Amino acid sequence: MDCLFCKIIAGEIPGKKVYEDENVYAFEDINPQTPVHILFVPKEHISAASEINSENSKYVAHIFEAIAKVAAQKGLKDGFRVVTNCGEHGCQSVKHLHFHLLGGQQLTEKMN
Ligand code: AMP
Ligand code: ZN
Repeated sequence: MDCLFCKIIAGEIPGKKVYEDENVYAFEDINPQTPVHILFVPKEHISAASEINSENSKYVAHIFEAIAKVAAQKGLKDGFRVVTNCGEHGCQSVKHLHFHLLGGQQLTEKMN
């Protein structure tokens, strides 16, 4: 499958790995928007948040466990934001489900 994030998980394209377990892979965003900007992806290819279902939703739970661990390791004690963009209106550019962990500075209230 021609998927950028599947290739990063497989080590075929370099990525700055931050965390890995059986289900989850996390790496630094190549174009960081905040001092800490890490992408969390399921190791199984799920194309978008719109494709989450009862069969694969366990990956989302695993991802949020990993986010909590990494956020603590990165010292984000004052908080952070987790974002997933979905589809055209959501400006999703890579069609492999991913959650952005953004932090390390005061974020704005703007969400759109
Ligand atoms: P989205 O726009 O929500 O689909 O997010 C895709 C994210 O992937 C963007 O923040 C990009 O900066 C990031 N990205 C694209 N290519 C790479 C790459 N090779 N390594 C790490 N992050 C990437
Ligand atoms: Zn993929």
